[in-house]
Amino acid sequence: MKCPFCGCMSSSVVRTEKLTLEVIRVRQCDSCRNYWETRESFERKVTPPQKAEERIQMNLFEAGDDKED
Ligand SMILES: [Zn+2]
Repeated sequence: MKCPFCGCMSSSVVRTEKLTLEVIRVRQCDSCRNYWETRESFERKVTPPQKAEERIQMNLFEAGDDKED
């Protein structure tokens, strides 16, 4: 995980909070010692579609979702 302050690629996780749909990690840069927070969202659990037409419907459905990234 890249430090947003100095760009150093080396950091340590100092705290992890597991929420229902995301994990929040507090990291400390190994270089400049600043702290920052990262959030990871879990993908919604889905059942893999068995038929091509179900897959197409799912793609249409997914395309309507707002992307956070
Ligand atoms: Zn840094």
